[in-house]
Amino acid sequence: MELFERMKKLNAAHGPSGDEGGIRAVIQEMAAPYADEVTTDTMGNLIVHKAGSGPKVMFAAHMDSIGFIVTHIEEEGFLRVGRLGGISPKEAVYTPVRFKNGVRGCFVPEEKAEFGKLKLDECYLDIGVRSAEEAKKLIRVGDTAVYDTPAFQTGDAVTSPYLDNRISCAILLEALERVQNSPNDLYFVFTVQEEVGLRGSKTAAFAIQPDYAVAVDVTDVDDTPGSEKSGTVQVGKGAAIKVMDSSVICHPAMVELLDQNAREGDIPTQRDILRAGGTDAGAIHTTGAGVLTGGISVPCRYIHTPVETASLEDCEACIRLTAAFAQRPLKAL
Ligand SMILES: [Zn+2]
Repeated sequence: MELFERMKKLNAAHGPSGDEGGIRAVIQEMAAPYADEVTTDTMGNLIVHKAGSGPKVMFAAHMDSIGFIVTHIEEEGFLRVGRLGGISPKEAVYTPVRFKNGVRGCFVPEEKAEFGKLKLDECYLDIGVRSAEEAKKLIRVGDTAVYDTPAFQTGDAVTSPYLDNRISCAILLEALERVQNSPNDLYFVFTVQEEVGLRGSKTAAFAIQPDYAVAVDVTDVDDTPGSEKSGTVQVGKGAAIKVMDSSVICHPAMVELLDQNAREGDIPTQRDILRAGGTDAGAIHTTGAGVLTGGISVPCRYIHTPVETASLEDCEACIRLTAAFAQRPLKAL
């Protein structure tokens, strides 16, 4: 399947942190024909196993997205919400949202709220009803909502509310299809609850006990007007090999192995140092007695807004690097 088409399908599925059933079902269907075994663990992680006789290699991409959770229904039918993951009200206002049951609405600020200092408590969801009674027929406290904006492609650019991290799920699925005869015992894991603290990958890594792990996620860029030019990554310069983020300092051996794969396969890469923000690599590398962990990052603009934007060529580089590492003859540790 073409990457953008796959991305659109993933984008349409419901899956904020803790409520990933919808997105899990879609990924499971896409992965099943290419796997020896597909399982779901207690936390809800989807574990896609492609068996091999060599060392265990775990690839992780979180399938949860940021979102809203209803905390209160007002007399007039407006909904107050809490946040699932790093939602910034200022970046999210005036965005359409949808619930799992199809109810739609918009996330808006109170009339007098000061835009620059906007707090979540000063915003609400308007689902088009006029009373709490009407609202309660559609929504319960605890229901979750996500951005309901489209995924679209403009030349090499792809924009969607949830490139973080559906684009990496699409990359893993594509790599899974391309891997032919790997000597390694491969686990492609689609994790839950990354956005609320790397929770799913922690238990998945504990169960799998991999020899090597690679987390695939988006990373921030500094190539837009007014940016401080303090980052390391730019859109269009290739797959970003993670060196560090606030959750992990990647094992130098892993950085070197990924570098080698890039050189051998003539895959364009750049180095990723994300100064604020973590990834599943953070939880995985300290599992058990420690796991050799690295990261492949997709350069992405406007992370955690409804218009996250990346380059399809960069994504292709990430797919090739993922597939190349999966097939690399690795030593058991
Ligand atoms: Zn992410």
